[in-house]
Amino acid sequence: MITRSELSVQSRAQISTQTISDFGCWQTQLAGAITSPEQLLAMLQLSPGLLSPALKACQEFPLRVPHAYIQRMVPGNPDDPLLRQVLPVGEECQHIEGYGLDPLAEQSQNPTDGVIHKYHGRLLLIVGGACAVNCRFCFRRHFPYQDNRLDRDSWHNAIEYIRSDTSIKEVILSGGDPLANNDRRLANIAAELNAIDHVATLRIHTRLPVVIPDRVTDELINWFARQRLQPVMVIHANHANEIDDRVREAMFRLKQAGVTLLNQAVLLKGVNDSASALIQLGEALFKAGVLPYYLHLLDPVHGAAHFDVPDVTATRLIQEVMAHCPGYLVPRLVREIPGRPGKTWIL
Ligand SMILES: *Cc1c(COP(=O)(O)O)cnc(C)c1O
Ligand code: SF4
Repeated sequence: MITRSELSVQSRAQISTQTISDFGCWQTQLAGAITSPEQLLAMLQLSPGLLSPALKACQEFPLRVPHAYIQRMVPGNPDDPLLRQVLPVGEECQHIEGYGLDPLAEQSQNPTDGVIHKYHGRLLLIVGGACAVNCRFCFRRHFPYQDNRLDRDSWHNAIEYIRSDTSIKEVILSGGDPLANNDRRLANIAAELNAIDHVATLRIHTRLPVVIPDRVTDELINWFARQRLQPVMVIHANHANEIDDRVREAMFRLKQAGVTLLNQAVLLKGVNDSASALIQLGEALFKAGVLPYYLHLLDPVHGAAHFDVPDVTATRLIQEVMAHCPGYLVPRLVREIPGRPGKTWIL
């Protein structure tokens, strides 16, 4: 593993050969993710009392977390901010007024399979539903990916849709996690998009480089960073502890190849709902070459109400971050309101 101080003395070219970590290649790590709450609790030496609610909550939305991510959790701490993002808990089963199955009404903004066109000038391509990790707060935890995948036929329709609408300047690969696809498939998608003149930017929203940093392969850098479209990657990290040496190294390699790197976090009670947690996250991101972009208020999805942070608290937290940090380390506090052509800025 290459640390940051070593990086500064070593030539950048020398680190371009990718390191395969002790966990195996990324596909192996993806396939080997832990899905049994019993196993996760044992690995982290946590109370068996957590098991029965976890098993119940798993029936609605399974547990899924790879070893590389578990390794960053502190054993014996049931309140670990990384654990809280992935461990199913009893509160998820409560039905709370205002928390529904499709909070963003995305299922009605589907002009053709695999396409969500709700933002002006930007279009989301759902290139796959598989995620490396199941985040308990996920706004798409009930999204019908099975009906909405890009197979060969729907892919053709999606490309035609993009070609026929010259207002689309940016295509955003979304999921699930788009980087759960192999690089060959993604390179083919990028090649078709490159041939559409009015598209200028290709953006990937992904949590994979955070969850399994070995996903940032030379192959990924080759198709993504060396194409006509300007490459942007928005990673999704919510806590500074998620950003370890492996993540930093992966980010440096993307950055070195010319990829614009941004982070979108979700404000989550018990994970990052303090000014110090948000400041540390911003600093950790910056050290990895990533700028904080959005701090998203929770989408009201069934099963995630226990993560909610009230708007007044969120606003106060961002004001505290503003008082401590340079402007480029202050994320925009936003919320998604169904039917609006972009996010709504709160602060
Ligand atoms: C908000 C969002 C986008 C697009 O947002 P921009 O305002 O264009 O940056 C894309 N993907 C996800 C998952 C989002 O939450
Ligand atoms: S990685 Fe993203 S899409 Fe997948 S479960 Fe987590 S928040 Fe949801």
